[in-house]
Amino acid sequence: MADENVLHESAGKRSGEGPGKRVVVVGGGIIGVSTATHLQRDGASVVLVTEGELADGASGRSLSWLNSAGARSDAYHALRVAGIDRYRTLFAADPSREWLRFDGGLYWASAGQREKVERRHRHEVAHGYDSRLVAPSAVPEHVAGVRPDAVTEVAVVNPGEGWVSLPELIGHLVGEFTRHGGEVVTHAGKARVVVDGGTARGVTTGDRRRFDADAVVLACGAATPAVVAELGVTVPDGSPLSMLVVTEPVESGVTAVLNTPRVAVRPHPGQAFALDHSWYESQIDEAPDGSCTVDEAVVKELVAAANALLTGNVTLTAASWKLGRKPVPGDGEPVFGELAQVPGCFVAFTHSGATLGLIAGELMSYEILTGARHPMLEPFRPERFQHA
Ligand SMILES: Cc1cc2nc3c(=O)[nH]c(=O)nc-3n(C[C@H](O)[C@H](O)[C@H](O)COP(=O)(O)OP(=O)(O)OC[C@H]3O[C@@H](n4cnc5c(N)ncnc54)[C@H](O)[C@@H]3O)c2cc1C
Repeated sequence: MADENVLHESAGKRSGEGPGKRVVVVGGGIIGVSTATHLQRDGASVVLVTEGELADGASGRSLSWLNSAGARSDAYHALRVAGIDRYRTLFAADPSREWLRFDGGLYWASAGQREKVERRHRHEVAHGYDSRLVAPSAVPEHVAGVRPDAVTEVAVVNPGEGWVSLPELIGHLVGEFTRHGGEVVTHAGKARVVVDGGTARGVTTGDRRRFDADAVVLACGAATPAVVAELGVTVPDGSPLSMLVVTEPVESGVTAVLNTPRVAVRPHPGQAFALDHSWYESQIDEAPDGSCTVDEAVVKELVAAANALLTGNVTLTAASWKLGRKPVPGDGEPVFGELAQVPGCFVAFTHSGATLGLIAGELMSYEILTGARHPMLEPFRPERFQHA
């Protein structure tokens, strides 16, 4: 039912122009922006609505290592490999971009865990994932800038891996989205799905606007379970607290992504590094409004762990750090597709959303515009939680 105090708009069809379906995408992170861009590219009329600024959620503070390393379900592995493939295509179009690089990855575990590292390598080899087991002394032949004596018994080199900086990717995609006629609405406040006759008809925003549409996409990151709960749909949440530290610029030969027992390190645009890990999760405090704090000693300890890895006279110092929830569904697997309970409302909520960003947007657009269910998303339907 229309609210007289709500200003009515129609997704992408203010004056009736533009062929195709009208879609409202909620969420200005990589999943929402990629989905909106693919939809607009594929002929839909799209409005992207987000609570605050673009990239103000997890996508603005992500390590964004592009990978399918380690063990996971075959379906999730296949989706991630397809995700890396789409980044390869983007990379090939312009290999000079500072925010998207493919210079490999290096992994090792704590001392005494040789068997764990070897098992991971065997699993990767069995899945056709490019994986090489190397002794610490051989690390410099594969990865520059890392002290061999920092590496424990054995390491895994994954030459096909890369990294992306998501705020720059989001800027790149939004440029294409708006050139094709897509509309971006930032600082809209919290959006809610409008349901009429059991079907999603659009959204209302916190700033009291209404956007009518034929389909709605919820890509709200860690807030997704709360947004779908308003529709009576349960999607379990396992989103942990997290932190990303960005260092001051420094001269270093490190180009690979390093995953080590106390710190993960990736190069960052502007000759800096981005650092994260999980050991300090319990030391992050979250206020009722969702804002987070951490003792600066934790930041210093993370930076010190990175400094212990690097060759030469390189000393990293923290320039900034950001805290917040990392979107992770309760069972650790992605959640993609139309809600069985609310036709016309699609959900995209996933861990490793950097690796999946491009492929998720492409396949969500395919499902919304064709009405067909893509086989690669079949294992990840939201209704699996209703059947649990
Ligand atoms: C520290 C860290 C390290 C990571 N490392 C990796 C990695 O190495 N590799 C990898 O692949 N992935 C990694 N990830 C995960 C990846 O970054 C995320 O999965 C991805 O950024 C999530 O994107 P998103 O668009 O789903 O969510 P977000 O980027 O959080 O965006 C959600 C947006 O929705 C908006 N929003 C929420 N609710 C509403 C509402 N009701 N109305 C309107 N707007 C709303 C928010 O304001 C936000 O802008 C990491 C994440 C973190 C935090």
